[in-house]
Amino acid sequence: MDTTVYELLLNLPELKVERVELENKTIRIYCHHLNTSGMCPVCQKRSIKVNQYTTHIVRDLNISGREVYLHLRLKQYECTCGRYFIDIPDFIEPNKSHTKRQSKWIFELSIKQPLSEVGALTNTHSKTVERIFYEHSQVNGYERYEGVTQLGIDEFSFRKGKKDYICVLTNLENGETIDILQTRQKEALIAHFQSITLKNGVLFKEQVKIASCDFWGPFLDIIKNEFPNATVIGDRFHWTTYINNVLDATRKALRKEFPKQEAFKSIKWLLFKQPDQNTENETNVLQNALTLSPILEELYYMKNTFIAIFECQFNYDFAIQQVNLWLEQAKNLKNEKLDEFIKFLERQFEPITNFFKHPVSNACTEGNNNLLRTVKRFTFNMTNFEHFKARCFAYKA
Ligand SMILES: [Zn+2]
Repeated sequence: MDTTVYELLLNLPELKVERVELENKTIRIYCHHLNTSGMCPVCQKRSIKVNQYTTHIVRDLNISGREVYLHLRLKQYECTCGRYFIDIPDFIEPNKSHTKRQSKWIFELSIKQPLSEVGALTNTHSKTVERIFYEHSQVNGYERYEGVTQLGIDEFSFRKGKKDYICVLTNLENGETIDILQTRQKEALIAHFQSITLKNGVLFKEQVKIASCDFWGPFLDIIKNEFPNATVIGDRFHWTTYINNVLDATRKALRKEFPKQEAFKSIKWLLFKQPDQNTENETNVLQNALTLSPILEELYYMKNTFIAIFECQFNYDFAIQQVNLWLEQAKNLKNEKLDEFIKFLERQFEPITNFFKHPVSNACTEGNNNLLRTVKRFTFNMTNFEHFKARCFAYKA
């Protein structure tokens, strides 16, 4: 039997094929490795003294739809240090019964379909598929942190209804997920950021120039205290919610006061919407309500003016001037609900207005959250965090 064609097909280094058995669904290839010495795992010396031979059966990539099994005869060497060892060729996954390229193939199949299906498709035990998948997707090291200068920190509820938040770190420049952390607990996050050293020896936290987050105190503290070169930016979509709540609370109060007045009934979203995006009918409905309540009208006007300052590309000093003028006007209204927002704005003045220095937003992390949701769905809400994270990164890659 001419075996050279199988050697060419297999294309594995130093592999000598002896004979081949073709079966209905499988191809068994009897072969050996051409090495003449092996390195002792204990003393690192090379040994040429063969003690005995042993056969390993390893699964390799299919050939024309048939499963390939290499019956690989390996040498067991005896080292001068007294240790016996088998020299496993590099193309075999250590201590596993498949080649490295076979496990790579299974991993690739596993990225976008359920692991059980991959098991059925490749005739591999589903536990093996699972193990291969998680071994390949291990996100070790800090490669994803290299070159990141704009960091978005966001939280995400891992299991609905439970208070186990996870933290998603995003590169704001390209929207890529850098990392998913199992906790949003302050001390743990600080320890995490302090541990990341980049390839050039620089600490990650020193490399970051811009960091954006919501107004959750610990996030702001971490950026202020741990990122010496970063400008902190409070995410604008988060404060927008706060100012919208002023309008909604006012609307609710009006509903209570005038329960029969239909005009205040279904305008919640119209109050939140940008006025230039309303249809003619929507404008009329809204105008009707605003005419009935001058207070609501005033607050609506104030909200839109405030947001407009952030829409315009003012230079920093001019923008700050505008915000201060707005504050003055807002305070004069002496409206209890607006005062709440004013207090918030004054407390968070710097992170909010740093937006005028660097107009970034965490909006792309919204995309991340959608990805997390998708992955959660098709992994049937797996609760093991590391597995979940591995699925997320594999799905994106
Ligand atoms: Zn040795």
